[in-house]
Amino acid sequence: MLDDQDRIFTNLYGMHDRSLKGAQARGHWDGTKTILENGREWIVEQMKASGLRGRGGAGFPTGLKWSFMPKESDGRPAYLVVNADESEPGTCKDREIMRHDPHTLVEGCLIASYAMQAHACYIYIRGEYIREKEALQAAIDEAYEAGLIGKNACKSGYDFDLYLAHGAGAYICGEETALLESLEGKKGMPRMKPPFPAGAGLYGCPTTVNNVESIAVVPTILRRGADWFASFGRPNNAGTKIFAVSGHVNNPCVVEDAMSISFEELIDKHCGGIRGGWDNLKAVIPGGSSVPCVRGENMKDAIMDFDALREVGSSLGTAAVIVMDKNTDIIKAIWRLSKFYKHESCGQCTPCREGTGWMMRVMDRLVRGEAEVEEIDMLFDVTKQVEGHTICALGDAAAWPIQGLIRNFRDEIEDRIKAQRTGKVSAVAAE
Ligand code: SF4
Repeated sequence: MLDDQDRIFTNLYGMHDRSLKGAQARGHWDGTKTILENGREWIVEQMKASGLRGRGGAGFPTGLKWSFMPKESDGRPAYLVVNADESEPGTCKDREIMRHDPHTLVEGCLIASYAMQAHACYIYIRGEYIREKEALQAAIDEAYEAGLIGKNACKSGYDFDLYLAHGAGAYICGEETALLESLEGKKGMPRMKPPFPAGAGLYGCPTTVNNVESIAVVPTILRRGADWFASFGRPNNAGTKIFAVSGHVNNPCVVEDAMSISFEELIDKHCGGIRGGWDNLKAVIPGGSSVPCVRGENMKDAIMDFDALREVGSSLGTAAVIVMDKNTDIIKAIWRLSKFYKHESCGQCTPCREGTGWMMRVMDRLVRGEAEVEEIDMLFDVTKQVEGHTICALGDAAAWPIQGLIRNFRDEIEDRIKAQRTGKVSAVAAE
Protein backbone atom coordinates (compact mmCIF):
# COMPACT_ATOMS: atom_id res chain seq x y z
CA MET A 1 0.00 0.00 0.00
CA LEU A 2 1.15 3.53 -0.77
CA ASP A 3 2.83 5.35 2.14
CA ASP A 4 1.26 8.61 3.21
CA GLN A 5 4.43 10.52 2.30
CA ASP A 6 4.11 9.31 -1.28
CA ARG A 7 0.60 10.60 -1.81
CA ILE A 8 0.34 13.45 -4.28
CA PHE A 9 -3.09 14.48 -3.07
CA THR A 10 -2.76 15.36 0.56
CA ASN A 11 -6.28 16.60 1.07
CA LEU A 12 -8.40 14.18 -0.93
CA TYR A 13 -10.87 13.81 1.91
CA GLY A 14 -11.20 17.50 2.68
CA MET A 15 -9.89 17.14 6.23
CA HIS A 16 -7.44 20.01 5.88
CA ASP A 17 -7.37 23.59 4.68
CA ARG A 18 -7.86 23.78 0.93
CA SER A 19 -6.93 27.45 0.68
CA LEU A 20 -3.61 28.67 -0.71
CA LYS A 21 -2.17 28.88 2.79
CA GLY A 22 -3.14 25.30 3.53
CA ALA A 23 -1.91 24.07 0.16
CA GLN A 24 1.46 25.78 0.63
CA ALA A 25 1.79 24.29 4.10
CA ARG A 26 1.41 20.86 2.49
CA GLY A 27 4.18 21.58 -0.04
CA HIS A 28 2.26 22.80 -3.05
CA TRP A 29 3.51 25.88 -4.94
CA ASP A 30 6.97 25.13 -3.58
CA GLY A 31 9.75 26.13 -5.99
CA THR A 32 7.37 26.60 -8.92
CA LYS A 33 9.55 29.37 -10.29
CA THR A 34 12.60 27.06 -10.28
CA ILE A 35 10.62 24.40 -12.14
CA LEU A 36 9.72 26.94 -14.82
CA GLU A 37 13.32 28.13 -15.02
CA ASN A 38 14.39 24.62 -16.00
CA GLY A 39 12.75 25.32 -19.34
CA ARG A 40 10.06 23.86 -21.50
CA GLU A 41 12.06 21.01 -22.95
CA TRP A 42 13.17 19.86 -19.52
CA ILE A 43 9.57 19.77 -18.32
CA VAL A 44 8.38 17.75 -21.33
CA GLU A 45 11.34 15.36 -21.04
CA GLN A 46 10.67 14.85 -17.33
CA MET A 47 7.04 14.10 -18.02
CA LYS A 48 8.03 11.56 -20.64
CA ALA A 49 10.53 9.98 -18.25
CA SER A 50 7.94 9.77 -15.47
CA GLY A 51 5.84 7.41 -17.59
CA LEU A 52 2.63 9.28 -16.77
CA ARG A 53 -0.23 8.10 -18.94
CA GLY A 54 -3.35 10.24 -19.27
CA ARG A 55 -5.79 9.70 -16.41
CA GLY A 56 -8.95 10.53 -18.38
CA GLY A 57 -9.46 7.02 -19.71
CA ALA A 58 -7.44 6.55 -22.88
CA GLY A 59 -4.07 6.26 -21.11
CA PHE A 60 -2.07 8.10 -23.76
CA PRO A 61 1.43 9.13 -22.54
CA THR A 62 1.12 12.71 -21.30
CA GLY A 63 4.65 13.92 -22.09
CA LEU A 64 4.37 12.58 -25.62
CA LYS A 65 1.06 14.37 -26.11
CA TRP A 66 2.65 17.63 -25.01
CA SER A 67 5.49 17.14 -27.48
CA PHE A 68 2.98 17.19 -30.36
CA MET A 69 2.44 20.89 -29.79
CA PRO A 70 4.35 23.16 -32.22
CA LYS A 71 7.83 24.07 -30.95
CA GLU A 72 7.70 27.44 -32.68
CA SER A 73 4.53 29.51 -32.95
CA ASP A 74 3.32 30.35 -36.44
CA GLY A 75 1.60 33.39 -35.01
CA ARG A 76 -1.39 31.54 -33.57
CA PRO A 77 -1.65 31.29 -29.79
CA ALA A 78 -1.48 27.87 -28.13
CA TYR A 79 -3.94 26.68 -25.50
CA LEU A 80 -4.12 24.14 -22.74
CA VAL A 81 -7.65 22.92 -22.04
CA VAL A 82 -8.34 20.88 -18.94
CA ASN A 83 -11.17 18.41 -19.24
CA ALA A 84 -13.05 18.59 -15.93
CA ASP A 85 -16.31 17.36 -17.41
CA GLU A 86 -16.15 14.03 -15.51
CA SER A 87 -19.55 12.70 -16.51
CA GLU A 88 -18.90 8.99 -16.89
CA PRO A 89 -21.18 7.07 -14.54
CA GLY A 90 -19.16 5.77 -11.59
CA THR A 91 -16.34 8.28 -12.05
CA CYS A 92 -15.93 10.81 -9.27
CA LYS A 93 -12.18 11.27 -8.76
CA ASP A 94 -11.52 14.68 -10.33
CA ARG A 95 -14.32 16.07 -8.20
CA GLU A 96 -12.30 15.32 -5.06
CA ILE A 97 -9.26 17.10 -6.48
CA MET A 98 -11.24 20.19 -7.43
CA ARG A 99 -13.19 20.61 -4.25
CA HIS A 100 -10.53 19.61 -1.72
CA ASP A 101 -7.11 20.07 -3.34
CA PRO A 102 -7.71 22.65 -6.08
CA HIS A 103 -4.26 24.23 -5.91
CA THR A 104 -2.67 21.04 -7.25
CA LEU A 105 -4.64 21.68 -10.44
CA VAL A 106 -4.02 25.43 -10.62
CA GLU A 107 -0.27 24.95 -10.22
CA GLY A 108 -0.33 22.11 -12.74
CA CYS A 109 -2.12 24.33 -15.25
CA LEU A 110 0.63 26.94 -15.01
CA ILE A 111 3.48 24.46 -15.45
CA ALA A 112 1.84 22.46 -18.24
CA SER A 113 0.82 25.62 -20.10
CA TYR A 114 4.34 26.96 -19.82
CA ALA A 115 5.71 23.71 -21.24
CA MET A 116 3.43 24.10 -24.26
CA GLN A 117 3.84 27.86 -24.63
CA ALA A 118 0.20 28.42 -23.83
CA HIS A 119 -0.42 31.79 -22.25
CA ALA A 120 -4.05 30.88 -21.58
CA CYS A 121 -5.62 27.77 -20.13
CA TYR A 122 -9.30 26.89 -19.89
CA ILE A 123 -10.70 24.45 -17.38
CA TYR A 124 -14.04 23.10 -18.62
CA ILE A 125 -16.01 21.87 -15.62
CA ARG A 126 -19.23 19.88 -15.83
CA GLY A 127 -22.50 21.67 -15.25
CA GLU A 128 -23.47 19.72 -12.14
CA TYR A 129 -20.24 20.55 -10.31
CA ILE A 130 -21.43 23.75 -8.64
CA ARG A 131 -19.51 23.55 -5.35
CA GLU A 132 -16.42 22.23 -7.14
CA LYS A 133 -16.55 25.23 -9.44
CA GLU A 134 -16.75 27.56 -6.46
CA ALA A 135 -13.78 25.91 -4.75
CA LEU A 136 -11.72 25.97 -7.91
CA GLN A 137 -12.58 29.57 -8.72
CA ALA A 138 -11.61 30.57 -5.19
CA ALA A 139 -8.23 28.85 -5.68
CA ILE A 140 -7.73 30.60 -9.02
CA ASP A 141 -8.55 33.97 -7.44
CA GLU A 142 -6.09 33.32 -4.61
CA ALA A 143 -3.36 32.37 -7.07
CA TYR A 144 -3.95 35.57 -9.04
CA GLU A 145 -3.86 37.66 -5.89
CA ALA A 146 -0.61 36.08 -4.75
CA GLY A 147 1.00 36.68 -8.16
CA LEU A 148 1.39 32.95 -8.78
CA ILE A 149 -0.55 33.24 -12.03
CA GLY A 150 -1.42 36.26 -14.16
CA LYS A 151 1.20 38.69 -15.41
CA ASN A 152 4.74 37.60 -14.60
CA ALA A 153 3.47 34.39 -12.97
CA CYS A 154 5.61 33.37 -9.97
CA LYS A 155 8.01 36.18 -11.04
CA SER A 156 9.12 33.96 -13.90
CA GLY A 157 8.56 36.59 -16.55
CA TYR A 158 5.81 34.43 -18.08
CA ASP A 159 2.28 35.77 -18.45
CA PHE A 160 -0.42 33.21 -17.85
CA ASP A 161 -4.19 33.42 -17.56
CA LEU A 162 -6.47 30.71 -16.26
CA TYR A 163 -10.20 30.64 -17.00
CA LEU A 164 -12.90 28.39 -15.62
CA ALA A 165 -15.76 27.57 -18.00
CA HIS A 166 -18.91 25.92 -16.72
CA GLY A 167 -20.61 23.34 -18.94
CA ALA A 168 -24.32 22.68 -19.07
CA GLY A 169 -24.29 19.01 -18.11
CA ALA A 170 -24.03 17.11 -21.40
CA TYR A 171 -21.99 13.90 -21.21
CA ILE A 172 -20.74 14.31 -24.76
CA CYS A 173 -18.91 17.52 -23.81
CA GLY A 174 -16.37 15.28 -22.07
CA GLU A 175 -15.24 14.19 -25.53
CA GLU A 176 -12.33 16.49 -26.24
CA THR A 177 -13.47 17.99 -29.54
CA ALA A 178 -17.09 18.37 -28.40
CA LEU A 179 -15.65 20.13 -25.36
CA LEU A 180 -13.78 22.54 -27.63
CA GLU A 181 -16.96 23.23 -29.62
CA SER A 182 -18.83 23.92 -26.39
CA LEU A 183 -16.04 26.21 -25.16
CA GLU A 184 -16.38 28.15 -28.41
CA GLY A 185 -20.05 28.66 -27.61
CA LYS A 186 -21.40 26.10 -30.06
CA LYS A 187 -23.40 22.91 -29.61
CA GLY A 188 -21.26 20.21 -28.01
CA MET A 189 -20.80 17.95 -31.00
CA PRO A 190 -17.58 16.00 -31.62
CA ARG A 191 -15.44 17.02 -34.58
CA MET A 192 -14.03 14.72 -37.21
CA LYS A 193 -10.34 14.02 -36.71
CA PRO A 194 -7.92 14.88 -38.24
CA PRO A 195 -7.12 17.66 -37.73
CA PHE A 196 -6.21 16.80 -34.17
CA PRO A 197 -6.36 19.50 -31.50
CA ALA A 198 -2.56 19.86 -31.42
CA GLY A 199 -2.80 21.14 -34.99
CA ALA A 200 -6.14 22.91 -34.91
CA GLY A 201 -8.03 22.88 -31.61
CA LEU A 202 -9.65 25.72 -29.74
CA TYR A 203 -10.48 28.58 -32.16
CA GLY A 204 -8.43 26.71 -34.76
CA CYS A 205 -5.25 27.07 -32.70
CA PRO A 206 -2.84 24.41 -31.36
CA THR A 207 -4.45 22.94 -28.26
CA THR A 208 -3.78 20.14 -25.83
CA VAL A 209 -6.68 18.69 -23.87
CA ASN A 210 -5.74 16.90 -20.65
CA ASN A 211 -7.68 15.36 -17.80
CA VAL A 212 -7.73 17.06 -14.35
CA GLU A 213 -5.76 14.32 -12.58
CA SER A 214 -3.12 14.24 -15.36
CA ILE A 215 -2.44 17.94 -14.85
CA ALA A 216 -2.78 18.00 -11.06
CA VAL A 217 0.00 15.42 -10.60
CA VAL A 218 2.51 17.37 -12.71
CA PRO A 219 3.95 19.75 -10.08
CA THR A 220 4.64 16.94 -7.59
CA ILE A 221 6.25 14.77 -10.27
CA LEU A 222 8.59 17.61 -11.21
CA ARG A 223 9.38 18.42 -7.58
CA ARG A 224 10.05 14.84 -6.53
CA GLY A 225 11.49 13.61 -9.80
CA ALA A 226 10.41 11.46 -12.70
CA ASP A 227 12.18 8.45 -11.17
CA TRP A 228 10.17 8.73 -7.99
CA PHE A 229 6.90 8.66 -9.92
CA ALA A 230 8.09 5.89 -12.22
CA SER A 231 8.99 3.76 -9.19
CA PHE A 232 5.31 2.98 -8.59
CA GLY A 233 3.45 0.44 -10.68
CA ARG A 234 4.68 -1.94 -13.32
CA PRO A 235 6.67 -0.81 -16.37
CA ASN A 236 4.48 1.13 -18.81
CA ASN A 237 1.91 1.62 -16.05
CA ALA A 238 3.77 4.02 -13.80
CA GLY A 239 2.76 6.21 -10.95
CA THR A 240 0.13 6.68 -8.33
CA LYS A 241 -3.53 6.71 -9.30
CA ILE A 242 -6.81 7.78 -7.82
CA PHE A 243 -9.31 4.94 -7.68
CA ALA A 244 -13.02 5.60 -7.17
CA VAL A 245 -14.70 2.48 -5.85
CA SER A 246 -18.48 2.32 -5.73
CA GLY A 247 -21.17 -0.31 -5.50
CA HIS A 248 -21.32 -3.38 -3.30
CA VAL A 249 -18.27 -2.93 -1.12
CA ASN A 250 -18.52 -2.26 2.60
CA ASN A 251 -16.90 1.15 2.36
CA PRO A 252 -17.11 2.83 -1.05
CA CYS A 253 -14.33 5.38 -1.37
CA VAL A 254 -12.05 7.49 -3.52
CA VAL A 255 -8.42 6.72 -2.73
CA GLU A 256 -4.96 7.31 -4.12
CA ASP A 257 -2.74 4.26 -4.31
CA ALA A 258 0.04 2.87 -6.44
CA MET A 259 -0.79 1.81 -9.94
CA SER A 260 -0.75 -1.99 -10.44
CA ILE A 261 -2.19 -2.66 -6.99
CA SER A 262 -4.17 -5.89 -7.03
CA PHE A 263 -7.93 -5.64 -7.07
CA GLU A 264 -8.12 -7.75 -3.92
CA GLU A 265 -5.77 -5.44 -2.02
CA LEU A 266 -7.59 -2.35 -3.21
CA ILE A 267 -10.93 -3.67 -2.01
CA ASP A 268 -9.76 -5.26 1.25
CA LYS A 269 -7.45 -2.44 2.39
CA HIS A 270 -9.53 0.55 1.43
CA CYS A 271 -13.12 -0.60 1.06
CA GLY A 272 -13.53 -3.09 3.90
CA GLY A 273 -14.08 -5.99 1.50
CA ILE A 274 -16.97 -7.07 -0.69
CA ARG A 275 -20.46 -6.87 0.78
CA GLY A 276 -21.20 -10.41 1.97
CA GLY A 277 -17.61 -11.60 1.36
CA TRP A 278 -15.57 -12.48 -1.71
CA ASP A 279 -17.80 -15.43 -2.59
CA ASN A 280 -20.61 -12.94 -3.05
CA LEU A 281 -18.80 -11.03 -5.81
CA LYS A 282 -20.56 -11.30 -9.14
CA ALA A 283 -19.08 -8.77 -11.54
CA VAL A 284 -16.86 -5.71 -11.68
CA ILE A 285 -16.74 -2.82 -14.11
CA PRO A 286 -13.14 -1.75 -13.48
CA GLY A 287 -12.86 1.56 -15.32
CA GLY A 288 -16.07 3.54 -15.52
CA SER A 289 -19.32 2.59 -17.18
CA SER A 290 -18.01 2.41 -20.74
CA VAL A 291 -15.65 -0.52 -20.24
CA PRO A 292 -16.75 -4.17 -20.34
CA CYS A 293 -17.64 -5.89 -17.08
CA VAL A 294 -15.54 -8.80 -15.81
CA ARG A 295 -16.79 -11.83 -13.89
CA GLY A 296 -15.97 -11.68 -10.19
CA GLU A 297 -13.82 -14.82 -10.18
CA ASN A 298 -11.62 -13.37 -12.95
CA MET A 299 -11.31 -10.06 -11.17
CA LYS A 300 -10.13 -11.12 -7.72
CA ASP A 301 -6.48 -11.57 -8.73
CA ALA A 302 -6.49 -8.89 -11.41
CA ILE A 303 -3.87 -6.14 -11.38
CA MET A 304 -5.29 -2.64 -11.57
CA ASP A 305 -3.41 -1.10 -14.47
CA PHE A 306 -3.79 -0.39 -18.17
CA ASP A 307 -2.10 -3.51 -19.53
CA ALA A 308 -3.31 -6.08 -17.01
CA LEU A 309 -6.97 -5.16 -17.30
CA ARG A 310 -6.78 -5.45 -21.06
CA GLU A 311 -5.69 -9.05 -20.50
CA VAL A 312 -8.94 -9.78 -18.63
CA GLY A 313 -10.98 -8.29 -21.47
CA SER A 314 -11.60 -4.88 -19.99
CA SER A 315 -9.79 -1.60 -19.40
CA LEU A 316 -8.55 0.65 -16.60
CA GLY A 317 -10.43 3.61 -18.11
CA THR A 318 -10.77 6.24 -15.41
CA ALA A 319 -10.20 3.67 -12.63
CA ALA A 320 -13.78 4.10 -11.49
CA VAL A 321 -14.44 0.64 -10.11
CA ILE A 322 -18.08 -0.46 -9.95
CA VAL A 323 -18.51 -3.57 -7.84
CA MET A 324 -21.62 -5.76 -8.14
CA ASP A 325 -22.50 -8.58 -5.79
CA LYS A 326 -24.70 -11.58 -6.43
CA ASN A 327 -27.88 -9.66 -5.70
CA THR A 328 -27.33 -7.66 -8.87
CA ASP A 329 -29.50 -8.17 -11.90
CA ILE A 330 -26.54 -7.78 -14.27
CA ILE A 331 -28.71 -7.67 -17.38
CA LYS A 332 -30.69 -4.81 -15.94
CA ALA A 333 -27.53 -3.04 -14.79
CA ILE A 334 -26.11 -3.08 -18.31
CA TRP A 335 -29.50 -2.11 -19.77
CA ARG A 336 -29.36 1.00 -17.59
CA LEU A 337 -26.02 1.93 -19.10
CA SER A 338 -27.45 1.36 -22.60
CA LYS A 339 -30.22 3.76 -21.73
CA PHE A 340 -27.66 6.32 -20.58
CA TYR A 341 -25.62 6.16 -23.77
CA LYS A 342 -28.72 6.32 -25.93
CA HIS A 343 -29.76 9.46 -24.08
CA GLU A 344 -26.33 11.07 -24.42
CA SER A 345 -25.71 10.32 -28.12
CA CYS A 346 -25.38 13.62 -29.95
CA GLY A 347 -27.05 12.09 -33.01
CA GLN A 348 -24.44 13.17 -35.51
CA CYS A 349 -23.57 9.76 -36.91
CA THR A 350 -26.00 7.06 -37.91
CA PRO A 351 -24.47 3.96 -36.24
CA CYS A 352 -24.51 5.74 -32.88
CA ARG A 353 -27.80 7.61 -33.24
CA GLU A 354 -29.73 4.56 -34.46
CA GLY A 355 -27.56 1.87 -32.89
CA THR A 356 -27.73 3.10 -29.30
CA GLY A 357 -31.54 3.16 -29.42
CA TRP A 358 -31.70 -0.20 -31.15
CA MET A 359 -29.34 -1.80 -28.63
CA MET A 360 -31.23 -0.31 -25.72
CA ARG A 361 -34.55 -1.66 -26.97
CA VAL A 362 -33.16 -5.19 -27.36
CA MET A 363 -31.58 -4.90 -23.90
CA ASP A 364 -34.97 -3.84 -22.59
CA ARG A 365 -36.50 -7.09 -23.82
CA LEU A 366 -33.56 -9.17 -22.58
CA VAL A 367 -34.15 -7.83 -19.08
CA ARG A 368 -37.64 -9.27 -19.22
CA GLY A 369 -36.57 -12.39 -21.09
CA GLU A 370 -38.90 -11.51 -23.95
CA ALA A 371 -36.54 -12.38 -26.76
CA GLU A 372 -35.29 -15.23 -28.88
CA VAL A 373 -31.96 -16.82 -27.98
CA GLU A 374 -30.69 -16.01 -31.50
CA GLU A 375 -31.12 -12.33 -30.76
CA ILE A 376 -28.18 -12.46 -28.37
CA ASP A 377 -25.82 -13.05 -31.29
CA MET A 378 -27.65 -10.48 -33.36
CA LEU A 379 -27.20 -7.91 -30.60
CA PHE A 380 -23.51 -8.75 -30.34
CA ASP A 381 -23.21 -8.33 -34.08
CA VAL A 382 -24.84 -4.90 -33.93
CA THR A 383 -22.45 -3.78 -31.18
CA LYS A 384 -19.60 -4.72 -33.54
CA GLN A 385 -21.13 -2.63 -36.30
CA VAL A 386 -21.33 0.39 -34.02
CA GLU A 387 -17.87 -0.06 -32.46
CA GLY A 388 -15.19 1.79 -34.39
CA HIS A 389 -17.62 3.15 -36.98
CA THR A 390 -18.47 6.48 -35.41
CA ILE A 391 -16.96 9.95 -35.17
CA CYS A 392 -16.23 9.72 -31.46
CA ALA A 393 -15.82 7.04 -28.82
CA LEU A 394 -19.39 7.23 -27.53
CA GLY A 395 -20.30 4.52 -30.03
CA ASP A 396 -17.66 2.26 -28.49
CA ALA A 397 -18.76 3.23 -25.01
CA ALA A 398 -22.29 2.08 -25.81
CA ALA A 399 -21.10 -1.15 -27.43
CA TRP A 400 -18.53 -2.39 -24.92
CA PRO A 401 -20.74 -2.88 -21.83
CA ILE A 402 -23.12 -5.04 -23.88
CA GLN A 403 -20.24 -7.03 -25.34
CA GLY A 404 -18.93 -7.61 -21.82
CA LEU A 405 -22.36 -8.77 -20.69
CA ILE A 406 -22.76 -11.23 -23.55
CA ARG A 407 -19.21 -12.56 -23.24
CA ASN A 408 -19.43 -13.07 -19.49
CA PHE A 409 -23.08 -13.66 -18.65
CA ARG A 410 -24.59 -15.26 -21.72
CA ASP A 411 -25.84 -18.14 -19.55
CA GLU A 412 -27.85 -15.72 -17.46
CA ILE A 413 -29.44 -14.08 -20.50
CA GLU A 414 -30.40 -17.46 -21.95
CA ASP A 415 -31.76 -18.66 -18.61
CA ARG A 416 -33.99 -15.63 -18.42
CA ILE A 417 -35.36 -16.19 -21.89
CA LYS A 418 -36.10 -19.81 -21.01
CA ALA A 419 -37.65 -18.82 -17.69
CA GLN A 420 -39.91 -16.35 -19.44
CA ARG A 421 -41.10 -19.13 -21.75
CA THR A 422 -42.00 -21.31 -18.77
CA GLY A 423 -43.51 -18.40 -16.85
CA LYS A 424 -40.84 -18.53 -14.13
CA VAL A 425 -39.10 -15.26 -14.73
CA SER A 426 -38.13 -13.64 -11.47
CA ALA A 427 -36.26 -10.71 -12.92
CA VAL A 428 -37.48 -7.24 -12.24
CA ALA A 429 -38.80 -5.88 -15.51
CA ALA A 430 -37.09 -2.88 -17.02
CA GLU A 431 -38.86 0.37 -16.39
FE1 SF4 B 1 -22.32 11.93 -31.70
FE2 SF4 B 1 -22.46 9.33 -31.13
FE3 SF4 B 1 -21.31 10.12 -33.36
FE4 SF4 B 1 -20.12 10.60 -31.02
S1 SF4 B 1 -20.49 8.60 -31.90
S2 SF4 B 1 -20.34 12.00 -32.72
S3 SF4 B 1 -21.95 10.96 -29.73
S4 SF4 B 1 -23.49 10.39 -32.80
